[in-house]
Amino acid sequence: MHSLRSIFSSLQGEGRNTGRPCTFIRYSSCNLACVWCDTERISKMLFTTDQVVREVAKLKNKSVIITGGEPTIQPELENLVDALKEKGYWIAIETNGLVAPPFIDKFDYIAVSPKPQYQVRYDKNSMIRKANEVRIVATSDDLAVYCLKIRDLIKADDYYISPLEEKGRMHYRRAMTLLSKVNKLSNEMPPWQLSIQTHKVLGIR
Ligand code: SF4
Repeated sequence: MHSLRSIFSSLQGEGRNTGRPCTFIRYSSCNLACVWCDTERISKMLFTTDQVVREVAKLKNKSVIITGGEPTIQPELENLVDALKEKGYWIAIETNGLVAPPFIDKFDYIAVSPKPQYQVRYDKNSMIRKANEVRIVATSDDLAVYCLKIRDLIKADDYYISPLEEKGRMHYRRAMTLLSKVNKLSNEMPPWQLSIQTHKVLGIR
């Protein structure tokens, strides 16, 4: 069974796929416990793989984003990916990157959002080392060295800094300060970019 918070249709609001109409499959549990996260407080629903695929079909998007919570710790994730692939969907995963499942290459797009406050939990032998994009939330403007360490650990096409949302307020200035610090420390291409969570700015789901 899949323990989910929700399945819904929306536009991807952040990163390279901003504006892409997608069906989001949002899992309900995580292997981390970030203070700002509401994952554990929202009620869960149990679905079989077939039920998930049927719900996804009803929403009529060609793209699916599997997110969380943390998808990589879900025991039936590979079954779901296989079932969605069979139907021809483009499938992305959004993960904190702590665990690299053996079937990670089945995803068409991998977005990793490592959590600086848990950096001691990340082990280079078991974490995700290759992705399409890396997004780091600017919980502080003092994460430039951490960002460069992550860039060494995870090879990606794009690297983003996202503003933290706290009690409805987006910390853009902090994100921009961090962005300028990290791009000052390194000239590596592509430069780190700002990823605004436009779904939050626009008030869409
Ligand atoms: S990694 Fe993501 S889902 Fe897990 S606790 Fe942190 S914010 Fe929530």
